[in-house]
Amino acid sequence: MPWTTIIKSRREWETVPNLHDYESIRVHFTWEQARQDLEGLPRNQGLNIAHEAVDRHANGARAAHLAIRWLGKNGTVEDYSYNRLNELTNRFANVLQRLGVGRGDRVFVLAGRIPELYIAALGTFKNRSMFCPLFSAFGPEPIRARLSIGQAKVLVTTTSLYQRKVAAIRAAIPSLEQILLIGEDRQPTAIAGTQDLTALMQQASPSFAIGPTDPEDMALLHFTSGTTGTPKGAMHVHQAVVAHHMTGKYALDFHKDDVFWCTADPGWVTGTSYGIIAPLTNGITSIVDEGDFDAERWYRILQEERVTVWYTAPTAIRMMMKGGAELVRKYDLRHLRLLASVGEPLNPEAVVWGQEAFGQPFHDNWWQTETGGIMIANYAAMDIRPGSMGRPLPGIEAAIVHRTEAGTIDVITKPGEQGELALRPGWPSMFRGYWNEPERYQKCFAGGWYLTGDLAKKDEDGYFWFVGRADDVIKTSGHLIGPFEVESVLIEHKAVAEAGVIGKPDPVAMEVIKAFVSLKDGYEPSDELRRELLGFARARLGAAVAPKEIAFLPTLPKTRSGKIMRRLLKARELGLPEGDTSTLEGAS
Ligand code: ATP
Ligand code: MG
Repeated sequence: MPWTTIIKSRREWETVPNLHDYESIRVHFTWEQARQDLEGLPRNQGLNIAHEAVDRHANGARAAHLAIRWLGKNGTVEDYSYNRLNELTNRFANVLQRLGVGRGDRVFVLAGRIPELYIAALGTFKNRSMFCPLFSAFGPEPIRARLSIGQAKVLVTTTSLYQRKVAAIRAAIPSLEQILLIGEDRQPTAIAGTQDLTALMQQASPSFAIGPTDPEDMALLHFTSGTTGTPKGAMHVHQAVVAHHMTGKYALDFHKDDVFWCTADPGWVTGTSYGIIAPLTNGITSIVDEGDFDAERWYRILQEERVTVWYTAPTAIRMMMKGGAELVRKYDLRHLRLLASVGEPLNPEAVVWGQEAFGQPFHDNWWQTETGGIMIANYAAMDIRPGSMGRPLPGIEAAIVHRTEAGTIDVITKPGEQGELALRPGWPSMFRGYWNEPERYQKCFAGGWYLTGDLAKKDEDGYFWFVGRADDVIKTSGHLIGPFEVESVLIEHKAVAEAGVIGKPDPVAMEVIKAFVSLKDGYEPSDELRRELLGFARARLGAAVAPKEIAFLPTLPKTRSGKIMRRLLKARELGLPEGDTSTLEGAS
């Protein structure tokens, strides 16, 4: 196993972790019981995400508790108590009803992280329509494609995004009946063929009774990140909320007085499951920052808002590492209790850097748009093996499997052996399909397992280790190599900020490993540094696994959710078509 150090979890707790005894809680856990933590709609009318996230707190002891604190990019602060959020989301649900938007209809939102996005999401759940978030940085074509694939009925957006990105493509989406615009500073807006959302909200009633909601009613349509190909529209149902709630409690260790900050944009599933739903169902305070990444701004937010639980992503952590640990230590971050990360493999170096800069490690966890919620995690009360994704949540059965040529599935039981990561279907937030692609959905299941498309290993103590995406694995001289291992070694070098590794076809070795690196501030590309990095990697990885070539890039191509797009590095290297680049950061 690639780990050499273990970061021991604290032994003395001011706040005892919810999952303080992993083994015993796991053994006794059932999803039926987890559902008892939620209220359900009055008069046994089913289960609705928004009722659990908003109404039950607004109607109870937490009505005045701060649900969302919104930090505008220009310094504005807006506070939304559970009560206020309830009124506003009721108004939005009434707006939808008045416009004839019904159960299962798709309501898309194209907006930055502004309060209306959160209100529209929750109001859409109340109306039992399907919420579909889009990244505001998408250009007209990715917007058109998703609206059209998802047969959007309503689009909520801002006047400026509408004019720049939607007006020209609108005619190409015949299903789109309503466009609800948010004017600049919520000022009235009057553009032909659209409605002014602020005015509609003012006219709407602040009361709304959520109708009967079957736990299997569709709630969310979420497009995947497009890291490996064309994004797929994963569908989720209302009872996914049981998993959102439970994973918030166990993996993110939510306690009732927590101030939680998830840095993800709701255009990416993390920003919905954990940026909207999970903190609210747990009745805690969630920070929403409209601004983009800026290390010092982020440390200031952590300090000023007294954030206790923080959920971010490897790319952001690597960018913070660039700025150094001293900068972090200038801030008073004594309230921070748990640091968590998701989205990409978290290099051991980054886990350990957390310890150096924040006095505690980052806790990596693994999941996918398809799984709807966290599946494998490092928990507050568990020792961390840097580089490992941790262990499966209670209620989740994970295994390493091998697909045989006959199409059957063999479970690999030998510790340390590499195979595909598989999950036993049946958890509440498992996707219920890819929108309009039933065959693709079917192909994800075999032998009673959901096959994730990721390769991993499991060690003798049940910790899972990410190897790479099945599509990214490199075959060289008879070895199967995951890019993560090679990238993690490269970023241990003091000059390297980021690394992306691909396999390049080779007549002898089948593939040779090529690495692309970007450098930290203060370092310049040179042949000498290239030779040094090649030697550095060879000394640590051995000649078979070390890269044979290294190229310097100012930055690596990434998705808007911050994932390195190895398929693009490869296509560019080989002069092949780039494929779907709709989610590429910086593209429009
Ligand atoms: P697409 O499916 O369109 O190619 P994507 O898989 O990147 O895009 P997401 O659903 O956002 O879309 O990402 C899930 C994937 O991200 C996982 O399958 C895994 O490859 C990677 N991932 C997420 N968290 C981790 C983690 N902690 N360690 C390693 N990989 C992770
Ligand atoms: Mg995927």
